[in-house]
Amino acid sequence: LNWEKRVITSARPRSHHHLSVLVTGAAGFVGSHVAAALKRRGDGVVGLDNFNNYYDPSLKRARQKNLEREGVFVVEGDINDAVLLNKLFDIVAFTHVVHLAAQAGVRYAMQNPGSYVHSNIAGLVSVFEACKLANPQPSIVWASSSSVYGLNSKVPFSEKDKTDSPASLYAATKKAGEEIAHTILHSSTGLRFFTVYGPWGRPDMAYFFFTKHILKGKPISIFEGPNHGSVARDFTFIDDIVKGCLGAIDTAQKSTGSGGKKKGVAQLRVFNLGNTSPVPVGKLVSILERLLKVKAKRNVPRNGDVLFTHANISYAQKELRYEPVTDLQTGLKKFVNWYLDYYSVNGKMKKKNSS
Ligand code: NAD
Repeated sequence: LNWEKRVITSARPRSHHHLSVLVTGAAGFVGSHVAAALKRRGDGVVGLDNFNNYYDPSLKRARQKNLEREGVFVVEGDINDAVLLNKLFDIVAFTHVVHLAAQAGVRYAMQNPGSYVHSNIAGLVSVFEACKLANPQPSIVWASSSSVYGLNSKVPFSEKDKTDSPASLYAATKKAGEEIAHTILHSSTGLRFFTVYGPWGRPDMAYFFFTKHILKGKPISIFEGPNHGSVARDFTFIDDIVKGCLGAIDTAQKSTGSGGKKKGVAQLRVFNLGNTSPVPVGKLVSILERLLKVKAKRNVPRNGDVLFTHANISYAQKELRYEPVTDLQTGLKKFVNWYLDYYSVNGKMKKKNSS
């Protein structure tokens, strides 16, 4: 089959009650889980990802392989490729676009500021413009971030709070995305994810590299706030985030005023998707030590970035029926089980997973 036929087959929903969804960043952590969940409930799904090497691309290829086993085709391409996007909208009448492709991570911006502008600003504009031009119009759900709240925000963070002090280039590009949505789209749903973790997660995130380092017997650095105040994160399990995404998809309006109940009324929604239960990073490490049955070697604590994240989720509870149910202990157990199945103790992918 040529790729266009594969796209058409992959996009086909089980019935006319189901959706046809384009998921950008589908080889990524969140994207691969969302794409699989949509497919399993009967929606047609096509992925798009450029398989960049921000972290180990073989993990992205393994997620792609899993998706292909479920019947989801992932197109290899960049979200800045307007010709490719327009072609996809020409051959499939997507009902929804879930835009998750982005340059994630905060520290990578030191060496690669351009990649944040390329993917999170230019790429986001490219996706939104293509959605606007598409006929029929898809509804758009996309990933913003809890990082928009910045250093000076009071916890718990509410969507009504000011977001005028982003603490990193990453946060600034996510904030810019929220502003840009207003200028291009009539309607869209932005989701502010709070530190998502779980199986098939991102190797650059703390819970993942702590696990790797603890197993290898390498020392880890736990960041602390000024005067040894604790740094705590509202760790949110991937399955809960997926449910939040599905809720957002199922309540989203079309990207122009031509559809939906409130004809002509702009509906640019932004929701916190968190766990409402911040856990200090030191406690995360203790849970990992218990699950891995290995004591971590700890470096002397250093001062780190955003001190505390904590979501107020009442808006998402009301509008999306979002209800996170996984505590950190339970979610980490699932992550550790996956990790030990996928990697050896030395951090190398097991042979059985590379075929
Ligand atoms: P991820 O890096 O695993 O996934 C992003 C995917 O997008 C990757 O597979 C990457 O190859 C792809 N991509 C990046 N730039 C692209 C481009 N220009 N064209 C095509 N593909 C491109 O990250 P994730 O953790 O799955 O995050 C998904 C989304 O959620 C991102 O927008 C991220 O900013 C946001 N987010 C994640 C978290 C979290 O804790 N994981 C928290 C807040 C927000």
